[in-house]
Amino acid sequence: TKHDPTFNFDNTYARELEGFYVPWQGVKAPAPKIVQFNDDLAEDLGLNSLALNSKDGAAIFAGSVAPTGANPLAQAYAGHQFGGFSERLGDGRALLLGEVLDKNGARFDLHLKGSGRTPFSRGGDGKAVLGPVLREYLMGEAMYALGVPTTRALAAVTTGEEVARDGMKPGAVLARIASSHLRVGTFQFFAARKEWDKVRKLADYAIDRHYPELASAEDKYLGFLSAVLERQAALVTQWLHAGFVHGVMNTDNMTISGETIDYGPCAFVDTYDPKAVFSSIDRDGRYAFGNQPVIAQWNLTRFAETLLPLIEADDSEKAIRLATNVINGFATRYTEIWTTGMRAKVGLASSEVEDAALINDLFTAMDGQNVDYTLFFRRLADAALGQDDDVVSLFDDGEKIRAWLKQWQDRLLRDPLDPAERAKAMNGVNPIYIPRNHRVEEALVAAEAGDMAPLAKLLDVLTDPFTKRDGLEGYEGPAPDDFGPYKTFCGT
Ligand code: AMP
Ligand code: MG
Ligand code: MG
Repeated sequence: TKHDPTFNFDNTYARELEGFYVPWQGVKAPAPKIVQFNDDLAEDLGLNSLALNSKDGAAIFAGSVAPTGANPLAQAYAGHQFGGFSERLGDGRALLLGEVLDKNGARFDLHLKGSGRTPFSRGGDGKAVLGPVLREYLMGEAMYALGVPTTRALAAVTTGEEVARDGMKPGAVLARIASSHLRVGTFQFFAARKEWDKVRKLADYAIDRHYPELASAEDKYLGFLSAVLERQAALVTQWLHAGFVHGVMNTDNMTISGETIDYGPCAFVDTYDPKAVFSSIDRDGRYAFGNQPVIAQWNLTRFAETLLPLIEADDSEKAIRLATNVINGFATRYTEIWTTGMRAKVGLASSEVEDAALINDLFTAMDGQNVDYTLFFRRLADAALGQDDDVVSLFDDGEKIRAWLKQWQDRLLRDPLDPAERAKAMNGVNPIYIPRNHRVEEALVAAEAGDMAPLAKLLDVLTDPFTKRDGLEGYEGPAPDDFGPYKTFCGT
């Protein structure tokens, strides 16, 4: 039988938003080859894996051949990078192939990263290389399995070309899906040009696509701002609960949908440290682990600025006041969502006002103690069963946590769960397997040398992060001391 690799395309961005992009084609890759294919995702999307995980699929995912129904284009966007505004960024090495409707009718962007130069490339070569492409693949899948909203990789392809980076590296393209690629920076692109009709058109499009319940709301643009704020507050909370550092929270890397996007210099913390930074270029710690909520609010403020002329108000002062009120609500909402998630992490099914203080005391106890963040929460489930030696042993000074454990156990007496139920619930929200930095490095180094087995194994481990399995002890713990401090790199 002949398998039909055709996607069910319905390209609203191309159709409805002329002037927001440049129609474009990928560069022909000399020898495209699929090195990793996401069968599970293809299946969920109702795609024909057999037909796509093939030579034809490789040409499509490398950007060499546009599939039937695609409408490839480079999207325009601007952005604040490390606080400085660039009015023209855009897809400099990426293409939106189109929007695919999955078997349930849900809409996804099918997007390529590394498919060659575009009118937005500036000085760049339009390319990507294998290590960073596979890092994005891996991190996205890990986040998805942890339940964090994220873009996902459908395939990683090598192009058959060597690309100059730090030495010559195998050229690669990532094919990913996202619920859209609308970014704060997309709004900024048109707001910076004072093209308010376009900002309104974009907002209407984004509302229709991601917040349809707002279409007939009273002041829908203010409601839109609140809705994006809510999703971003929830997203950043999940990052902090998982120990994730995005590393490059520029406004062009913040989605309107509330999905994590653009995995560059990201990493998970081993040791709990609000100041943790992995990116080699984040010298001031702007995007440090504990600073992410502050930056989310800063980015949302930049987003609010683009919407001001759309907000219904008698004058611009009033519009600013209304938007400011929404933005000022971030800290409260963030804290509420954070506390709710933390209750689950420490095994509470009930809620008391004083829980916020209990949770704050926990972080005070962990501070400066070289505690492995992931193992702490996982072993806290053992403490719920009465065995607290292993959690105490994670601390430089065990007394710090013993006092807190006492406080926590007193609180548990007023919670309805029995110990076994509690431990089970905790192990359902606190992962045992995260993408440990030394494991990620090991997998990427092997892949660059042509051995995909460690990556496949790591992907397999991370696909089920909450279930402890025999034989995977080597995936549980932090990097060994000789791994040294971890540095990550972006734009590669
Ligand atoms: P990123 O750091 O990947 O989020 O990208 C920031 C901006 O730089 C976007 O406009 C990208 O399209 C652009 N960019 C990054 N790498 C390249 C490259 N190799 N060639 C052209 N543009 C790039
Ligand atoms: Mg994406
Ligand atoms: Mg980006």
